[in-house]
Amino acid sequence: MGTLFRVTVYAESRAAAQSAMTAAFARAHELDAILSDYKPDSELNLLTRRPRGSAEPVGADLLRVLEVAQKIARASNGAFDVTLGPVIQLWRQAKRTGLLPSPSERTRALRRSGWRHLHVDTRQSTLRLDRQGMQLDLGGIAKGYAADEMLTALRNRGIGRALVAAGGDLRIGEAPPGENGWRVKLDWTNEQLILADCAVSTSGDTEQWVEIGGERYSHIVDPKTGLGLKRSSPVTVIAPTGLIADPLATALSVMSRGRGNKLAANFGAAVRRP
Ligand code: ADP
Ligand code: MG
Repeated sequence: MGTLFRVTVYAESRAAAQSAMTAAFARAHELDAILSDYKPDSELNLLTRRPRGSAEPVGADLLRVLEVAQKIARASNGAFDVTLGPVIQLWRQAKRTGLLPSPSERTRALRRSGWRHLHVDTRQSTLRLDRQGMQLDLGGIAKGYAADEMLTALRNRGIGRALVAAGGDLRIGEAPPGENGWRVKLDWTNEQLILADCAVSTSGDTEQWVEIGGERYSHIVDPKTGLGLKRSSPVTVIAPTGLIADPLATALSVMSRGRGNKLAANFGAAVRRP
Protein backbone atom coordinates (compact mmCIF):
# COMPACT_ATOMS: atom_id res chain seq x y z
CA MET A 1 0.00 0.00 0.00
CA GLY A 2 3.02 2.21 -0.34
CA THR A 3 3.31 3.17 3.29
CA LEU A 4 4.88 2.16 6.59
CA PHE A 5 2.69 0.35 9.09
CA ARG A 6 3.57 0.66 12.76
CA VAL A 7 1.95 -1.25 15.62
CA THR A 8 2.22 -0.44 19.34
CA VAL A 9 0.79 -2.80 21.95
CA TYR A 10 0.62 -3.37 25.68
CA ALA A 11 0.82 -7.08 26.48
CA GLU A 12 1.41 -9.46 29.37
CA SER A 13 4.60 -10.72 27.84
CA ARG A 14 6.98 -10.13 24.96
CA ALA A 15 6.00 -13.48 23.47
CA ALA A 16 2.28 -12.62 23.53
CA ALA A 17 3.02 -9.26 21.90
CA GLN A 18 5.20 -10.81 19.23
CA SER A 19 2.80 -13.53 18.18
CA ALA A 20 -0.11 -11.07 18.02
CA MET A 21 1.94 -8.59 15.99
CA THR A 22 3.02 -11.32 13.59
CA ALA A 23 -0.66 -12.15 13.00
CA ALA A 24 -1.51 -8.47 12.48
CA PHE A 25 1.22 -7.99 9.89
CA ALA A 26 0.27 -11.22 8.14
CA ARG A 27 -3.24 -9.81 7.79
CA ALA A 28 -1.82 -6.56 6.35
CA HIS A 29 0.15 -8.52 3.74
CA GLU A 30 -2.94 -10.52 2.87
CA LEU A 31 -4.94 -7.31 2.33
CA ASP A 32 -2.14 -5.73 0.31
CA ALA A 33 -2.29 -8.68 -2.08
CA ILE A 34 -6.04 -8.13 -2.50
CA LEU A 35 -6.43 -4.34 -2.53
CA SER A 36 -3.20 -3.02 -4.04
CA ASP A 37 -3.38 -1.18 -7.34
CA TYR A 38 0.39 -1.43 -7.75
CA LYS A 39 0.51 -5.22 -7.76
CA PRO A 40 -0.54 -6.40 -11.24
CA ASP A 41 -2.10 -9.62 -9.91
CA SER A 42 -3.96 -8.22 -6.89
CA GLU A 43 -7.61 -9.28 -6.76
CA LEU A 44 -8.49 -5.65 -7.54
CA ASN A 45 -6.40 -5.52 -10.71
CA LEU A 46 -7.45 -8.96 -11.91
CA LEU A 47 -11.09 -7.88 -11.64
CA THR A 48 -10.59 -4.75 -13.70
CA ARG A 49 -9.21 -6.94 -16.51
CA ARG A 50 -12.41 -9.02 -16.69
CA PRO A 51 -14.93 -8.36 -19.48
CA ARG A 52 -17.14 -5.29 -19.12
CA GLY A 53 -20.74 -5.59 -18.13
CA SER A 54 -20.53 -9.02 -16.52
CA ALA A 55 -21.08 -9.69 -12.82
CA GLU A 56 -17.80 -10.98 -11.39
CA PRO A 57 -17.49 -12.73 -8.00
CA VAL A 58 -15.61 -10.73 -5.35
CA GLY A 59 -13.99 -11.84 -2.09
CA ALA A 60 -15.30 -10.65 1.29
CA ASP A 61 -12.61 -8.02 1.93
CA LEU A 62 -12.85 -6.33 -1.44
CA LEU A 63 -16.64 -6.44 -1.26
CA ARG A 64 -16.69 -4.77 2.16
CA VAL A 65 -14.29 -2.01 1.05
CA LEU A 66 -16.19 -1.34 -2.17
CA GLU A 67 -19.55 -1.31 -0.40
CA VAL A 68 -18.40 1.46 1.95
CA ALA A 69 -16.55 3.26 -0.85
CA GLN A 70 -19.79 3.45 -2.84
CA LYS A 71 -21.76 4.68 0.19
CA ILE A 72 -19.31 7.53 0.63
CA ALA A 73 -19.21 8.23 -3.11
CA ARG A 74 -22.98 8.63 -3.12
CA ALA A 75 -23.07 10.71 0.07
CA SER A 76 -20.23 12.98 -1.11
CA ASN A 77 -21.72 13.35 -4.58
CA GLY A 78 -18.62 11.74 -6.07
CA ALA A 79 -16.00 13.82 -4.23
CA PHE A 80 -14.65 10.47 -3.04
CA ASP A 81 -14.67 8.05 -5.93
CA VAL A 82 -12.63 4.83 -6.25
CA THR A 83 -13.31 4.69 -10.00
CA LEU A 84 -11.00 7.68 -10.53
CA GLY A 85 -8.21 5.19 -11.31
CA PRO A 86 -7.61 6.46 -14.89
CA VAL A 87 -7.35 10.06 -13.62
CA ILE A 88 -5.00 9.06 -10.80
CA GLN A 89 -2.82 7.13 -13.28
CA LEU A 90 -2.62 10.31 -15.37
CA TRP A 91 -1.44 12.18 -12.27
CA ARG A 92 1.24 9.63 -11.50
CA GLN A 93 2.44 10.13 -15.07
CA ALA A 94 2.44 13.91 -14.61
CA LYS A 95 4.59 13.48 -11.52
CA ARG A 96 7.14 11.55 -13.59
CA THR A 97 7.16 13.81 -16.65
CA GLY A 98 6.58 17.17 -14.97
CA LEU A 99 3.91 17.96 -17.57
CA LEU A 100 0.27 18.73 -16.89
CA PRO A 101 -2.12 16.29 -18.60
CA SER A 102 -3.79 17.93 -21.60
CA PRO A 103 -7.51 18.75 -21.45
CA SER A 104 -8.29 15.93 -23.90
CA GLU A 105 -6.31 13.41 -21.84
CA ARG A 106 -8.21 14.51 -18.76
CA THR A 107 -11.57 14.29 -20.53
CA ARG A 108 -10.73 10.78 -21.73
CA ALA A 109 -9.69 9.66 -18.24
CA LEU A 110 -12.80 11.19 -16.68
CA ARG A 111 -14.97 9.42 -19.24
CA ARG A 112 -13.56 6.11 -18.00
CA SER A 113 -14.41 7.08 -14.41
CA GLY A 114 -17.56 7.56 -12.37
CA TRP A 115 -18.88 5.69 -9.34
CA ARG A 116 -22.25 5.22 -11.03
CA HIS A 117 -20.55 2.82 -13.47
CA LEU A 118 -19.44 0.53 -10.65
CA HIS A 119 -22.13 -1.81 -9.35
CA VAL A 120 -21.55 -3.69 -6.12
CA ASP A 121 -24.02 -6.43 -5.26
CA THR A 122 -23.53 -7.41 -1.63
CA ARG A 123 -26.16 -10.19 -1.76
CA GLN A 124 -24.58 -11.99 -4.71
CA SER A 125 -21.04 -10.89 -3.73
CA THR A 126 -20.38 -9.60 -7.21
CA LEU A 127 -19.08 -6.51 -8.90
CA ARG A 128 -19.86 -5.12 -12.32
CA LEU A 129 -18.03 -2.41 -14.26
CA ASP A 130 -20.04 -1.06 -17.12
CA ARG A 131 -17.50 1.07 -19.03
CA GLN A 132 -14.41 0.19 -21.02
CA GLY A 133 -11.07 1.15 -19.55
CA MET A 134 -12.26 1.51 -15.96
CA GLN A 135 -9.64 1.20 -13.25
CA LEU A 136 -10.28 1.13 -9.50
CA ASP A 137 -7.95 2.87 -7.04
CA LEU A 138 -8.31 2.18 -3.33
CA GLY A 139 -5.48 4.53 -2.25
CA GLY A 140 -7.95 6.62 -0.23
CA ILE A 141 -9.58 3.76 1.70
CA ALA A 142 -7.43 0.59 1.83
CA LYS A 143 -5.07 1.75 4.57
CA GLY A 144 -7.92 2.62 6.90
CA TYR A 145 -9.47 -0.81 6.41
CA ALA A 146 -6.11 -2.55 6.83
CA ALA A 147 -5.57 -0.71 10.13
CA ASP A 148 -9.03 -1.87 11.34
CA GLU A 149 -8.27 -5.44 10.39
CA MET A 150 -4.85 -5.40 12.06
CA LEU A 151 -6.45 -4.21 15.28
CA THR A 152 -8.99 -7.03 15.00
CA ALA A 153 -6.16 -9.54 14.50
CA LEU A 154 -4.52 -8.26 17.70
CA ARG A 155 -7.82 -8.40 19.61
CA ASN A 156 -8.41 -11.98 18.46
CA ARG A 157 -5.17 -12.81 20.24
CA GLY A 158 -6.20 -11.08 23.45
CA ILE A 159 -4.47 -7.76 22.89
CA GLY A 160 -6.89 -4.83 22.94
CA ARG A 161 -4.54 -2.09 24.15
CA ALA A 162 -3.05 -1.30 20.82
CA LEU A 163 -2.49 1.38 18.22
CA VAL A 164 -2.00 0.74 14.51
CA ALA A 165 -0.54 3.54 12.39
CA ALA A 166 -0.77 3.12 8.61
CA GLY A 167 0.86 6.30 7.34
CA GLY A 168 -1.62 9.07 8.16
CA ASP A 169 -4.31 6.62 9.25
CA LEU A 170 -4.50 5.58 12.89
CA ARG A 171 -6.64 2.83 14.37
CA ILE A 172 -6.78 3.11 18.12
CA GLY A 173 -7.84 0.36 20.51
CA GLU A 174 -8.33 0.38 24.29
CA ALA A 175 -6.42 2.91 26.38
CA PRO A 176 -2.95 2.08 27.70
CA PRO A 177 -2.88 0.84 31.33
CA GLY A 178 -3.81 3.61 33.78
CA GLU A 179 -4.63 6.10 31.02
CA ASN A 180 -7.86 7.46 29.57
CA GLY A 181 -6.63 7.04 26.03
CA TRP A 182 -3.78 7.35 23.56
CA ARG A 183 -2.31 10.82 23.11
CA VAL A 184 -2.54 11.93 19.50
CA LYS A 185 -0.94 15.25 18.61
CA LEU A 186 -2.07 17.10 15.51
CA ASP A 187 1.07 18.86 14.29
CA TRP A 188 -0.69 21.64 12.48
CA THR A 189 -2.98 22.73 15.32
CA ASN A 190 -0.74 21.73 18.21
CA GLU A 191 -3.86 20.13 19.59
CA GLN A 192 -3.48 17.03 21.71
CA LEU A 193 -6.34 14.54 21.69
CA ILE A 194 -6.82 11.68 24.13
CA LEU A 195 -8.50 8.89 22.22
CA ALA A 196 -9.60 5.27 22.57
CA ASP A 197 -11.62 2.88 20.38
CA CYS A 198 -11.73 4.99 17.25
CA ALA A 199 -9.87 5.87 14.07
CA VAL A 200 -8.09 9.06 13.06
CA SER A 201 -7.24 9.88 9.44
CA THR A 202 -5.52 12.95 8.04
CA SER A 203 -5.55 13.93 4.37
CA GLY A 204 -4.30 16.79 2.28
CA ASP A 205 -1.17 17.33 4.26
CA THR A 206 1.82 18.50 2.28
CA GLU A 207 3.57 15.15 2.17
CA GLN A 208 2.54 14.09 -1.32
CA TRP A 209 2.30 16.55 -4.17
CA VAL A 210 3.38 17.26 -7.72
CA GLU A 211 4.97 20.55 -8.68
CA ILE A 212 4.27 21.66 -12.25
CA GLY A 213 4.91 25.16 -13.59
CA GLY A 214 5.53 26.48 -10.08
CA GLU A 215 2.15 25.21 -8.84
CA ARG A 216 1.78 22.54 -6.20
CA TYR A 217 -0.86 19.92 -6.81
CA SER A 218 -2.02 17.38 -4.24
CA HIS A 219 -2.20 13.63 -5.01
CA ILE A 220 -5.91 13.95 -4.24
CA VAL A 221 -7.76 14.65 -7.47
CA ASP A 222 -10.85 16.75 -7.97
CA PRO A 223 -13.33 14.66 -10.00
CA LYS A 224 -14.78 17.85 -11.50
CA THR A 225 -11.52 18.85 -13.20
CA GLY A 226 -9.44 15.68 -13.35
CA LEU A 227 -6.60 17.67 -11.77
CA GLY A 228 -4.89 17.38 -8.42
CA LEU A 229 -6.20 19.80 -5.79
CA LYS A 230 -4.33 23.06 -5.60
CA ARG A 231 -5.43 24.24 -2.21
CA SER A 232 -5.03 21.39 0.14
CA SER A 233 -5.00 22.32 3.78
CA PRO A 234 -4.96 19.33 6.10
CA VAL A 235 -8.14 17.82 7.45
CA THR A 236 -8.36 15.25 10.22
CA VAL A 237 -11.37 12.99 10.69
CA ILE A 238 -12.11 11.03 13.84
CA ALA A 239 -14.56 8.20 13.18
CA PRO A 240 -15.54 4.84 14.67
CA THR A 241 -13.46 2.87 12.13
CA GLY A 242 -10.61 3.40 9.69
CA LEU A 243 -12.81 2.15 6.87
CA ILE A 244 -14.91 5.30 7.43
CA ALA A 245 -12.26 7.79 8.60
CA ASP A 246 -9.83 7.25 5.70
CA PRO A 247 -12.21 7.92 2.77
CA LEU A 248 -13.98 10.72 4.68
CA ALA A 249 -10.69 12.57 5.12
CA THR A 250 -10.06 12.28 1.37
CA ALA A 251 -13.63 13.38 0.55
CA LEU A 252 -13.44 16.37 2.89
CA SER A 253 -10.25 17.56 1.19
CA VAL A 254 -12.25 17.90 -2.03
CA MET A 255 -15.53 19.29 -0.60
CA SER A 256 -16.42 22.72 0.76
CA ARG A 257 -16.18 23.03 4.55
CA GLY A 258 -19.90 23.22 5.09
CA ARG A 259 -20.82 20.21 2.98
CA GLY A 260 -17.86 18.26 4.30
CA ASN A 261 -18.79 18.85 7.93
CA LYS A 262 -22.34 17.69 7.23
CA LEU A 263 -21.09 14.55 5.49
CA ALA A 264 -18.81 13.71 8.42
CA ALA A 265 -21.64 14.21 10.93
CA ASN A 266 -23.83 11.80 8.93
CA PHE A 267 -21.18 9.11 9.39
CA GLY A 268 -20.73 9.81 13.12
CA ALA A 269 -17.36 11.48 12.60
CA ALA A 270 -15.72 14.60 14.07
CA VAL A 271 -13.55 16.97 12.01
CA ARG A 272 -10.44 19.00 12.90
CA ARG A 273 -8.98 21.62 10.59
CA PRO A 274 -6.36 24.35 11.01
P1 ADP B 1 -2.84 9.36 1.94
O1 ADP B 1 -2.56 8.34 0.89
O2 ADP B 1 -1.78 10.42 2.03
O3 ADP B 1 -3.26 8.81 3.26
P2 ADP B 1 -5.57 9.84 1.20
O4 ADP B 1 -6.10 8.88 2.18
O5 ADP B 1 -6.28 11.15 1.09
O6 ADP B 1 -4.07 10.21 1.43
O7 ADP B 1 -5.60 9.10 -0.20
C1 ADP B 1 -5.06 9.67 -1.35
C2 ADP B 1 -5.07 8.60 -2.43
O8 ADP B 1 -6.44 8.30 -2.76
C3 ADP B 1 -4.42 9.02 -3.72
O9 ADP B 1 -3.05 8.69 -3.74
C4 ADP B 1 -5.20 8.23 -4.75
O10 ADP B 1 -4.72 6.90 -4.82
C5 ADP B 1 -6.59 8.20 -4.17
N1 ADP B 1 -7.46 9.34 -4.54
C6 ADP B 1 -7.08 10.56 -5.00
N2 ADP B 1 -8.14 11.36 -5.20
C7 ADP B 1 -9.24 10.63 -4.85
C8 ADP B 1 -10.65 10.91 -4.83
N3 ADP B 1 -11.16 12.10 -5.18
N4 ADP B 1 -11.47 9.90 -4.41
C9 ADP B 1 -10.97 8.69 -4.06
N5 ADP B 1 -9.67 8.39 -4.05
C10 ADP B 1 -8.80 9.34 -4.43
MG1 MG C 1 -7.91 9.03 3.10
